Amino acid sequence: MTTLPYLNPDLSIAERVEDLLGRMTREQKVGQMLQLDARDDLDDHVLGKHVGSILHTSPERVVRAHELTAETELRIPLLVGEDCIHGNSFWKGATIFPTQLGMAGTWDAELTEQVARVTAIETATTGVHWTFSPVLCIARDLRWGRVDETFGEDPHLIGELASAMVRGYQGKGLNDPSAILATAKHFAGYSETQGGRDASEADISPRKLRSWFLPPFERVAREGCRTFMLGYQSTDGVPITVNDWLLNDVLRGEWGYTGTLITDWDNVGRMVWEQQVQPDYAHAAAAAVKAGNDMVMTTPKFYEGALEAIEKGMLTEAELHPAVARILTLKFELGLFEDPRHPDVAAQEALVGHEDHTALNLEVARHSLVLLNNDGVLPLEGGFVADESGRAAGTGAAKKIAVVGPLADDAQTQLGDWAGNSGQAGWFPEGHPREMITTVLDGLRAHTPADWSVSYAQGADILTLAADPEGEFFPDGQPRPQVVVPTAPDAAQIAEAVAAAKDADYVVAVVGDRIELVGEGRSTATLELIGGQIALLDALAETGTPMIVVLLASKPLVLPESALNAAALLWVANPGMQGGRAIAELALGLIEPSGRLPISFARHSGQQPTYYNQIRGQHGNRYADLTQTPAFQFGQGLSYTTVEYSDLVIADTNLTAADTVRASLTLTNTGARPSRETVQVYVSDTVTSVSWADQELKTFTQVDVAAGESKTVEIELPAAECTIVDAKGNRIVEAGAFELRVGKSSRSEDVLRATFTIA
Ligand code: BGC
Repeated sequence: MTTLPYLNPDLSIAERVEDLLGRMTREQKVGQMLQLDARDDLDDHVLGKHVGSILHTSPERVVRAHELTAETELRIPLLVGEDCIHGNSFWKGATIFPTQLGMAGTWDAELTEQVARVTAIETATTGVHWTFSPVLCIARDLRWGRVDETFGEDPHLIGELASAMVRGYQGKGLNDPSAILATAKHFAGYSETQGGRDASEADISPRKLRSWFLPPFERVAREGCRTFMLGYQSTDGVPITVNDWLLNDVLRGEWGYTGTLITDWDNVGRMVWEQQVQPDYAHAAAAAVKAGNDMVMTTPKFYEGALEAIEKGMLTEAELHPAVARILTLKFELGLFEDPRHPDVAAQEALVGHEDHTALNLEVARHSLVLLNNDGVLPLEGGFVADESGRAAGTGAAKKIAVVGPLADDAQTQLGDWAGNSGQAGWFPEGHPREMITTVLDGLRAHTPADWSVSYAQGADILTLAADPEGEFFPDGQPRPQVVVPTAPDAAQIAEAVAAAKDADYVVAVVGDRIELVGEGRSTATLELIGGQIALLDALAETGTPMIVVLLASKPLVLPESALNAAALLWVANPGMQGGRAIAELALGLIEPSGRLPISFARHSGQQPTYYNQIRGQHGNRYADLTQTPAFQFGQGLSYTTVEYSDLVIADTNLTAADTVRASLTLTNTGARPSRETVQVYVSDTVTSVSWADQELKTFTQVDVAAGESKTVEIELPAAECTIVDAKGNRIVEAGAFELRVGKSSRSEDVLRATFTIA
């Protein structure tokens, strides 16, 4: 029997693709461009619509999908996609890391790369080939429901961490069986919402896109991120799905991107039923293909629409070919025709939730925690060293800790969105195994000195849900999120927590948000703690017992005075399965705090936006009734010691754009504990031809400084990085004076300054 050319691994991929394309019917080509929801009619997807890909598949259905593929004529393997965005989210027992925003608190690209690598290793065993991660959106409006999925507000930090994640996922190359496809999403500008509302028209000019929103995407495109997902937004009236300028002129043209594009969920359908810019599915399908989309996510009617468009002469079959060829190329590159990478039970048992992955998870969680205030209460009792079991070895009098708050022992909430039972996948409603998750209560019980006592009172509820008055489903049949009803403070609950606090030496209050306030279609109008939480904190503050507030919140919230004036305030985002242990270790001084804010905290939701790199040239600099300064600003974060920054010197201050800015400074740890400093380097261009951000992060470095130690830090920054985007949209270096600002945060009081010129 002769092997068909496309099944012959000795031929080149281009030859195999050409051969296979020549054997496919028009229907099979259209189907190859479709990715459908595996929770629906899988038989019809594979046998009826010839889909090229599925997503959201339970362990059982992925096996069934492959059985169905075996029944097809050409046996083109399926690409299986999933949102494995901080671990293999929907695989029960997978290692679930801090959310992307939590990871961003580490400012550590190496750790982030390892997270993605481990995620890929676990994911690959489950038959998933493609993760829809990382998110490169810039979070500028804290009301947006997807802030937790981002790396925060700064394009440089986003680029560093996203690039690391892509490397981690894609590993040594697609032929490595532990490599999975990465997706840079959501291209581009999706996060520039109006009023924080999810997926509203993104009012954003081409120049603004080029200035801040595109650079992280350009970076990963050039570095070989194999797929890009388009967002939900329209800009200037044009849905991204048909934005010829962004897709063809910029992405495929200027950046030379040859990877694969996937739409977001039903983007093609939305042009018909939501944005109402296409009269029917035939027109929408033709427009989407002509604009250069490759894979169409969950628009089942794309199938009939594209076929109708071809019949009616609005689209030619040949116009499908570049997209189908790109999808087939990915499948050949992954080697799926030789090894379709089906779920591998033995590998799952060996690798999913492996103890090394748990150790990495703990390390990431430890570095993600951002200490915002501390009057000296932390580390508790001046800090401990751990015994062999990891418990603080007791030194003096036994103490009592009251652990209170609705999130102190809420294991699934600690994991955040895109994990277990967060709503996107229905096959394990109970969430990830409780025993894999260490809550703050668990962590303190396990790590405080053996003779300390730890009491617990919930103290408050947060919310209940009610049906959306507009009905249970959206027009496309997707469920509408229920609406949040904040729970009223409960006097008895508060009294119990107050009694516990009064009886204790310290109170640890764990407050924040819940999944119902997070995610797609779940933006919030307010940023305050809701339910009984503020009343609880106010009452606890009155007891006089030193209070450590742990803010377990998907995104920065607006905090009451009782939290801002507490003895200590720690933001932990959604810190993943090991979060509770990391928080306990930090409180006890078994580790040092080192996280830094990847995003600013507002004092009031009316202050939006509060990001640090805003454009100069406002009339005044405050509101009549409130300062404009954020409560905590990008880059901030405390350690348990004081490190002084001094002697910033630039070696040669007269440069050309081809030179490198070489500077040095001294860090002196004047305290008694070590610190990991994140030395942040900002540049301010003194005079620009067009208005520009007063300062931008250009690079950063992490330096460990032991107690009492002084260290010289060298900084190198190519002058070519000191760019602006001019009025015509070109990124250029403008000759003139610049200020280098180096310090421990973006706040003006935290930086040293030195000037240089570029000729
Ligand atoms: C989200 C994407 C996600 C996709 C698949 C969409 O609604 O916007 O980020 O990858 O669903 O779950």
